Amino acid sequence: MELDVRSVSKSPVHSAEHILNRTMVNMFGCPRSRNAHIERKKSKCDYILDSCPTEEQVDVIEAKVNDVIAAAMPVTIEFMSREEAAKIVDLSKLPEDASETLRIVRIGDYDDYACIGAHVQNTSEIGEFKIISHDFNDGIWRVRWRVVKD
Ligand SMILES: [Zn+2]
Repeated sequence: MELDVRSVSKSPVHSAEHILNRTMVNMFGCPRSRNAHIERKKSKCDYILDSCPTEEQVDVIEAKVNDVIAAAMPVTIEFMSREEAAKIVDLSKLPEDASETLRIVRIGDYDDYACIGAHVQNTSEIGEFKIISHDFNDGIWRVRWRVVKD
């Protein structure tokens, strides 16, 4: 649950962040990044993992995110009650004062997440996802990445 309203200019990068989060959850069963720093040129996300992903796994993460981008999935916004939303998304991090109606961002059939940020309308608008570097310290895997639009 992102609480800050992100600018539209960052929306391709922020949309890539949703895809990366889902990819990490699917591959490692870890929580979504709680400590993301999203910028147009270079972003970083932290994940709680037991060990550092291998270079091979890092390549798979990058390839999977690019697969979703290349699949040109529609990004849609749906408003639903908390009760309905709880059936499809993890609301454990939702603040107590969150409204009764939630804004759910859907990326094709790949990801659903409660978020108020700005997004692209189709994943094909994102560009190419590139992992720049990563490191692992005290159970936190930090990955630095960017999207390149040509
Ligand atoms: Zn979002």
